[in-house]
Amino acid sequence: MVLLRFAPSPTGALHLGGLRTALYNYLYARKLGGKWILRIEDTDATRTVPGAVDGIRGALEWAGLEYDYGADYFSVLAKKVPMRLISRLAETRERLARTGSNDTYDKACLHLTDEEVARRVRAGEKYVVRLNDSNLPMRTSPKDLVFGVLKDAHASLPTDPVLLKSDMFPTYHLASVVDDHEMKITHVLRGEEWLPSLPLHLDLYACFGFQVPQFAHLPLLLNPDGTKMSKRKGDVQVFDYKRRGWEPSAVLNWLALAGWGAQTEPEAVPSTSKKLHKEPPDSTTVMTMEDMIREFDLSSITPRRTVMDPLKLEYLNKHHLMRELETENGLLKMAERAHDTVKTTFPLSQYTSVSYIKEVIRALEARITNLHDIPVLAPYFFTEGLEPEYCSDGASMLESLMLDPKTYVSILSGVMSKLETTEWDVQALHDTLENEREALGVKNKFYMMALRHALTGMKAGPPMATVMHVLGKDRTLLRLQMAHD
Ligand code: GLU
Repeated sequence: MVLLRFAPSPTGALHLGGLRTALYNYLYARKLGGKWILRIEDTDATRTVPGAVDGIRGALEWAGLEYDYGADYFSVLAKKVPMRLISRLAETRERLARTGSNDTYDKACLHLTDEEVARRVRAGEKYVVRLNDSNLPMRTSPKDLVFGVLKDAHASLPTDPVLLKSDMFPTYHLASVVDDHEMKITHVLRGEEWLPSLPLHLDLYACFGFQVPQFAHLPLLLNPDGTKMSKRKGDVQVFDYKRRGWEPSAVLNWLALAGWGAQTEPEAVPSTSKKLHKEPPDSTTVMTMEDMIREFDLSSITPRRTVMDPLKLEYLNKHHLMRELETENGLLKMAERAHDTVKTTFPLSQYTSVSYIKEVIRALEARITNLHDIPVLAPYFFTEGLEPEYCSDGASMLESLMLDPKTYVSILSGVMSKLETTEWDVQALHDTLENEREALGVKNKFYMMALRHALTGMKAGPPMATVMHVLGKDRTLLRLQMAHD
């Protein structure tokens, strides 16, 4: 069985790149009927941010990425690591180098006798434990499922990297290798930023005689201008996307397509597996979670860095939204979500019930890309009359309509008298408007623009019969009356 892990450090909020890593772990585990684990890697107590673990869990929950179990595993394991590993290293006949300073490290302590080391430790001298890289098992070039064979990868490793820090906590490298081994992880999918550490990790696997898992490093995500995604350049935290009303399914779809494209042939993939390569999805394929699980394939991940195009997210969001609105249940879910943003924009409005918002969403269905568009596109649904701070689009509209005030007033008075006796359903309203317009002999465009001006103060929106139906009879007549006077 495949077993994967997502191993964020609790050093801050979960970023988009982290969510993509979590998603790919999830997809691969689900596709192969395996499991994936959330493992909080608190190797660096000084960088741990209070609340970060809850934030990471909350972001995964928002995205709907359920893990098979979560573990603050490392904190437990960490306490056991030092002694056990030191003896394990001794067994493999490696030597530990000890020194107090990283900058001036010169392997000098490697030649101290065991007695001298013990004496200095007893005397309270600070020390770290390093990997002695002069006496390692044979190295081969690391292989990565995405980046292929990494030539000369060991050249950039520091001399004798630190394994246990002076507080006797393991470094990330040691902890991650030991944890992955202990947890029997079969595939490590993580960000490209860890690729330079792969050779060191492989050295550790070799020293300990551990079986090496498969590695797949996921390429960096970039801003549209080609720079690395960072907070200064816009939204990078998962919660930014939640706050801005993006559908979690659309964000996941967007991330699934990031890095999942045409494959340049990795040397690491044996040639026999070529025929297994699937056609990658095109860059705007709309996919549900089931589609993604079915289609996901590690061999279609490209090592090219991916530009995160916000327009693509808009496109995907609109489609995911429309898919939700196909069912009554989906509509209810969306109305419940939109409720918050409507309430925040119109705190005093009495037109914010979930059932009312459902009607508004139905009316605006074709026009919204994001649920947060609702209060911006159609503030008039939530106000009593046409409060100018919200519905001001129409100030110069009458002039641009080229409607003389007399015609405008006669359109309004004509329709008001007929609406008094019209049944309040969309078809009946539509018929009334149509008959009235014909009787007046006004062009449809002008007639509807006049009504839209009076009822919404906006230049565009849903058909007028739909607007009237959602507003209800009282508000419709009141607004017509006010515009008329
Ligand atoms: N703890 C590392 C991070 O937060 C994860 C590295 C890994 O997955 O091995 O980026």
